[in-house]
Amino acid sequence: MTQLDLNKLDKLAYLSIKKGVNIQPGQDLLITASIESLPLLRKLVDYAYKEGAGVVTPIFTDPHITKSRFQYATDQSFDRTQTWLYEGIKNAFKNNTARLAVVSEDPQLLSNFDSDKVSRASKATSLAYKPALEYISNFEINWNIISYPGKAWAKLVFPDLSDEEAVKKLGDAIFHASRIINDDPLKEWDDHNKKLKSKAKWMNEMNFESLLYKGPGTNLEVGLAVGHEWVGGSTNTKKGIPTFPNMPTEEIFTTPHCKKVNGTVRSTKPLSYQGSLIENIEVEFKNGKIIKMNASNGKDVFSKVLKTDEGASQLGEIALVPHSSPISQTGLVYYNTLYDENSSCHLAIGQCYSKCFKDKSLTKEQVIANGGNSSLIHIDWMIGSDKIDISGKDHNGNLIPVFKQGEWCN
Ligand code: ZN
Ligand code: ZN
Repeated sequence: MTQLDLNKLDKLAYLSIKKGVNIQPGQDLLITASIESLPLLRKLVDYAYKEGAGVVTPIFTDPHITKSRFQYATDQSFDRTQTWLYEGIKNAFKNNTARLAVVSEDPQLLSNFDSDKVSRASKATSLAYKPALEYISNFEINWNIISYPGKAWAKLVFPDLSDEEAVKKLGDAIFHASRIINDDPLKEWDDHNKKLKSKAKWMNEMNFESLLYKGPGTNLEVGLAVGHEWVGGSTNTKKGIPTFPNMPTEEIFTTPHCKKVNGTVRSTKPLSYQGSLIENIEVEFKNGKIIKMNASNGKDVFSKVLKTDEGASQLGEIALVPHSSPISQTGLVYYNTLYDENSSCHLAIGQCYSKCFKDKSLTKEQVIANGGNSSLIHIDWMIGSDKIDISGKDHNGNLIPVFKQGEWCN
């Protein structure tokens, strides 16, 4: 039995449309996916229309076509992008189109190409996509990201298995992590959501001034933004529609104060970024800025990323995930941030989430004045393990245990 479990694939599609995106009657839907994920995509479109979607539009990518550019295009290609497309996507979001992304690609797709070309191309895309991305990060619209086990990704996670077995295994891991374990994943997600909400509530009641992280290679104090709020699980869009942006999701997260981060931190899992693997990242922060950086692999790529703009070398997010999360329990490295970030406490350099403030009506300028970071990028990397202790410092300077050996204390 090495077939991908089609029954569970069907449940994943239904879960994504119904709980993840939570498509509304008459609402249009934009889906991006690799051509490889067509079996899932067709089910998603069926369910979207059954739930009353207006018009569903897929945008496909193909690994060969993506690589073709880096192999054959002339140098001037890499500072350009499909500006017209991102303009259109922005207009779609402006008109309340919902968004669904299916992730299935080989995380190392571009690792053998010139990192300069890769980073120039991604910068051009980030710039063009930024106006559209703001509709997503500010939750003007409902959106969801799920995964499909693409062959090259599966072989990276399970290099010793045959193609078919690797896809089946990664599929099972995706279903397990997405809590498709019994007949009623929707209820499973409601229960999970309640737990995440209660942790966020406790952190909000504590209203810490900063968090202190201690572990091998890590001794870091992260100040929290003024008026920050911890959030996790479902999010209500500005129109009041509950949506689950990430499936899986195990994190509660907030906005750090981007000028009040000091000390050293070491990553605990490889970071897969734009087709490259960045491993064993070690950085030192001073007054919020990364002033020293090292990595055993992909140092070049990471150092270019840090130079994207002013905010790229400052923190935009911190997130708490217990070491016992279902994703972490599999013991696998997924080489996919959606999975790896949800198996572990993490940080993100770059753009902060404006929704992580108690006052939801802050202007961009107010977010920045409160310590929120602004950047073209947002990159999560993992710093959690069973050796990490975290304590919260309250406004009187008292230390209260939050995580002990990777698990919640309360
Ligand atoms: Zn996160
Ligand atoms: Zn993040």
